[in-house]
Amino acid sequence: MIREPVVDPPTLAPFALPSEGRAIPTLDGALAAALERVTGLASTVLRVPTAFVALLGSDRRCFAGGPAVPRWLAHDPGTLFRSGLSGRILMSEQLTALRDARADPSPGVATTARDFGVAGFLGMRLVSADGEATAIFCAVDVEPRDWTAEETRLFREIAISALTEIELQRRTADAERIEQQLRHDALHDRLTGLPNRAFFVERVRIAVERARRNPDECFGVLFLDLDNFKAINDSFGHVAGDELLLEVSRRLTGCLRSLDMLARLGGDEFALLLENIREPSDAARVAERLQASLQTPITVGEDEAYTSVSLGIAVHSEADDHPQHLLRSADLALYRAKEQGRARFQVFDPRMHEEAVRRLRLETDLRRALERNQFRLHYQPVVSLDTGRIVAVEALLRWEHPERGLVPPGEFIHVAEEAGIISEISRWVLEQACRQCQSWRRDHGDDAPESVWVNLSMRQLAEGGLARQVSEVLQSLRFEAKRLTLEVTENLLVENVDVSLRTLSELHELGVRVFMDDFGSGHSSLGFLDRLAIDGIKIDRSFIGHLGAGDRPLQLVRTIVALVRGLGFIPIAEGVETEEQLRLLRDMGCEFAQGFHFSRAVPPDGIAKLLKVRVRW
Ligand code: C2E
Ligand code: MG
Ligand code: MG
Repeated sequence: MIREPVVDPPTLAPFALPSEGRAIPTLDGALAAALERVTGLASTVLRVPTAFVALLGSDRRCFAGGPAVPRWLAHDPGTLFRSGLSGRILMSEQLTALRDARADPSPGVATTARDFGVAGFLGMRLVSADGEATAIFCAVDVEPRDWTAEETRLFREIAISALTEIELQRRTADAERIEQQLRHDALHDRLTGLPNRAFFVERVRIAVERARRNPDECFGVLFLDLDNFKAINDSFGHVAGDELLLEVSRRLTGCLRSLDMLARLGGDEFALLLENIREPSDAARVAERLQASLQTPITVGEDEAYTSVSLGIAVHSEADDHPQHLLRSADLALYRAKEQGRARFQVFDPRMHEEAVRRLRLETDLRRALERNQFRLHYQPVVSLDTGRIVAVEALLRWEHPERGLVPPGEFIHVAEEAGIISEISRWVLEQACRQCQSWRRDHGDDAPESVWVNLSMRQLAEGGLARQVSEVLQSLRFEAKRLTLEVTENLLVENVDVSLRTLSELHELGVRVFMDDFGSGHSSLGFLDRLAIDGIKIDRSFIGHLGAGDRPLQLVRTIVALVRGLGFIPIAEGVETEEQLRLLRDMGCEFAQGFHFSRAVPPDGIAKLLKVRVRW
């Protein structure tokens, strides 16, 4: 199945790409300038050598203004915070005005004042809108002062403007920090902290542009997909799955140069941008390194899990330098790598694109074929070697494609399986075949085929729910179960054995017969035969085709027929093409046969003609 196309990222503002690790901007510069202005103003208006603001909380710094800033203030503002003087201001909700701090009775104040050379003193705590004390604001004189009401009023007003200044700057800094966080989140994956798809695509776009200006530069895009992530998630749980992803991203990152960018596209999919490589083989070497990094097991919770990664590689080419095409190429290559099994990598080849387009077109057409009534059933007679008469017909699906003509099932069944539409098609086949069988019985009575044989897809059998579908069709058409035979291929027993075996038994219980198709052509496992609820075995035409070409093929077929019978199954020979093959099969007591010698698969009226002349072989 073609995977979801890579979509265009949301457009990013030109400034939106923060360089990794950029610090949150501080507004210190602006705040310092503002507070120095305000304290300078206070010192002028109040005619004091210095006024200062001391920030509280984690941000303990002093900003002072005036013609004579004392040394202790400029060099060690910490002393101030530890002093009794700042405690005195903080404890009071009111403005503190001292004629001579050296004579103040509050604990610690007089000593501090003497140490610092402070006499006349005005101080006030600055409380922000949320009720928190953010700073203290002070004016200091070296001589005792009798502060006038006008002076304290001015002091209060200037202190409030200092507070406004601090709050404004802090709010701006907060807003800036939040905005930057949001920008970071929009471009990074939450779990691993790696760049996300939008960020990655943007970087690829930039790389493409750079390569356009400088054609000597070569870079590659790699798509990575863990091979067994779903299984790990299912068996160890999501928390463990997350742990695994984190460790995988750490290991992959460990293989890269600082120039390269690893991103998480989502789920277990990662992407890698390799800048400045010389040739595709460089990318392949990185792929090998990445794969090797996952060879040691990963600890998840109390367990150890093994994982591997499949990779698709696309190297930038001048011929096609659209960023989206490059990503799609890497994706297609990954798809190819996955098809070949686990822990593989594939380098994109333009033919993959042609193939994918062809496949996509086929899939789209196929989805519409049912509603456009483009499917046909042809029927191939099954002959009883005992009587020489047609006893059954096998329904074989054809697709009447408006441009391509009659398409054989081998070209589209597997596509329908992967596209998830096989079940609807099968239902149509089943209904159509049963109806046709009824129609022949109406027209030809006992000369009509006794039963119709219908092929089943391996997928369906392994998915379960098939028996119910069959039973529904039988009931709605009032079709006798014994007149239906279902053919299944032996390959289905390779995967999902349990479900397949159960479905076979369910079908058997319905009263329909089940035959194994193409026996001997796939992964035959004789060990399974005794566990299968089947009635007959169709011997693959590759064996029958050699009949008449010597002793050994003859012995082989004879042995298979004997084996099938010995196990209590009905033997059926497929692909009988010559008179001689027919004779040999008859001699060895094979019961039924099919093949071009009797008839190819033909439309329903072709079968009607054969029935009318009461053909006999
Ligand atoms: P199959 O079930 O083994 O069908 C027999 C195939 O062998 C048919 O090809 C038939 O035309 C061909 N054949 C019959 N006699 C001879 C002969 O004497 N010589 C040679 N060389 N070939 C012969 P066809 O119709 O192309 O079908 C191919 C396969 O497609 C079928 O193999 C079956 O597995 C699958 N198929 C067909 N119809 C359906 C369907 O409705 N559903 C599903 N799931 N699969 C189907
Ligand atoms: Mg068949
Ligand atoms: Mg067959």
